Amino acid sequence: MFHFCPSCASPKIRFEAHTLFRCPDCGFVYYHNIAAATGCIIDTDEGVLLLVRAKEPAQGKLDLPGGFVGPGEGAVEGLRRECREEIGWDPGPHFSFFTSFPNTYPYQGILYNTCDLFFTLSAPGLREEDLHRDPQEIGGIRFIKPAQMLMEDLAFDSTRRVMQAFLARQHPDLSPSMA
Ligand SMILES: [Zn+2]
Repeated sequence: MFHFCPSCASPKIRFEAHTLFRCPDCGFVYYHNIAAATGCIIDTDEGVLLLVRAKEPAQGKLDLPGGFVGPGEGAVEGLRRECREEIGWDPGPHFSFFTSFPNTYPYQGILYNTCDLFFTLSAPGLREEDLHRDPQEIGGIRFIKPAQMLMEDLAFDSTRRVMQAFLARQHPDLSPSMA
């Protein structure tokens, strides 16, 4: 990522332990920490709300509402903001924590390691006409019933893992098709 130390411009800067950059010449240290990201399973009468990704990575694949937690935000605040930005809808603060998985997010040649935090929210009456998607980020909105959920249509390993865990809990009679 860095070919020169951002502090003294030494070319000897090294990436250590998958975690930090260290410059042996001036002692500069920069931690490439994991990023926290959120996702929410919004369960409605029409199915689970999924968003078509308009951008790489995984353009055209289905993802849950959510995104990176910003500086100064808690996970719930960040998720609520992402819902407002992505689908123009404020879900309120009453998410339930569901589970957490590690993920990786390649972006412009850099691999970010994330800690994905997943929440659930029951919104039985929510419909597409209640939502206003951001066309820059979201190519479409889908409500998918558990029986129609195809794992290969989902964007990320962590999305597949969380959806399988959710379906196993909510609908133990269904075994979702695997990619
Ligand atoms: Zn340096």
